[in-house]
Amino acid sequence: MKTLVTGGAGFLGSHICERLLEQGHEVICLDNFFTGNKQNVEHLRDHASFELMRHDVIDPFKVEVDRIYNMACPASPVHYQYNPIKTIKTSVMGAINCLGLAKRVGARILQASTSEVYGDPEVHPQPESYRGNVNPIGLRACYDEGKRCAETLFFDYHRENKVDTRVVRIFNTYGPRMAPDDGRVVSNFIVQALKGEDLTIYGDGSQTRSFCYVDDLVEAILRTMEQEESVGPVNIGNPVEFTIRELAEQVLAKVGSSSKLIEMPLPSDDPTQRKPDISLAKKVLEWEPKVQLADGLDLTIPYFREAITQ
Ligand code: NAD
Ligand code: UDP
Repeated sequence: MKTLVTGGAGFLGSHICERLLEQGHEVICLDNFFTGNKQNVEHLRDHASFELMRHDVIDPFKVEVDRIYNMACPASPVHYQYNPIKTIKTSVMGAINCLGLAKRVGARILQASTSEVYGDPEVHPQPESYRGNVNPIGLRACYDEGKRCAETLFFDYHRENKVDTRVVRIFNTYGPRMAPDDGRVVSNFIVQALKGEDLTIYGDGSQTRSFCYVDDLVEAILRTMEQEESVGPVNIGNPVEFTIRELAEQVLAKVGSSSKLIEMPLPSDDPTQRKPDISLAKKVLEWEPKVQLADGLDLTIPYFREAITQ
């Protein structure tokens, strides 16, 4: 099996490349290195079945493959808002280019969609049938609406061109190989605690998220690709919900840090609550997360300890 992973040098993409190589796939990792890093796949470079390609998904490309994981897109609000027009182009033109390729070569293709398609949800927890509450003109829209449009394209290529598609909606995921300056909450808090800096809580910290450890998530993504029962969308994430303040307190306790918690302005359109309904994933993937936050933090903190001293 020959597999293309776009965004393969990023946090999730690099773990997917690694798992696919372990399973005996030939892997082409395509990335423009915007938020990804060659170091994330450095340990795979000498593998005979691994190929690294610098390319932007906005521009068309041709490769002969059986599977495509479309992971390319900055995922952290800081990075996707840095150049919002580029972000929406990455989601929309990236999806068109990947779907066109899948159609030409007859590959099965999976889209990394997001819980952000639910916006600031009024239904809690969120099932796949919930259509969301997204502000189409806000600062997060470049990401949310780009991902929503990508889902539309996946379903239209599936209906019109019979492309063999899968869509997963990923909820907040963390773990080793997140960039220390990524800007998302788990990496920010761990890095701040390790450096003895104040932990920056946006708003009063009462907003919630549900955090999934990377190994659990990658297992669910690979299972979604290889099952025949559902094209999705399938929610994948850990349904145990925490306030951001609770997360900060756990990180401080784990790191053994005496850093303080400080409140900063809440970014606009920041969702107040988020928790996946994973009934569909349990049924079609026979999957549920195994690693709870306390254990996942224990697996992640040593990575950041090393990363910030390099
Ligand atoms: P990441 O920023 O670490 O990885 C994204 C990768 O895509 C990077 O390597 C980046 O360089 C690459 N990339 C960005 N724009 C590109 C372009 N135009 N052409 C080629 N490569 C490009 O983020 P991640 O957490 O690994 O996220 C991977 C995917 O999963 C993204 O599509 C993201 O939207 C989705 N997702 C992630 C989460 C999460 O919690 N980690 C949640 C929801 C959705
Ligand atoms: N957040 C925070 N401090 C930080 C980074 C993020 O309080 O240093 C909050 C942010 O406002 C949001 C939550 O943590 O409510 C999750 O943010 P993240 O950027 O990780 O992901 P997303 O908002 O996309 O779920």
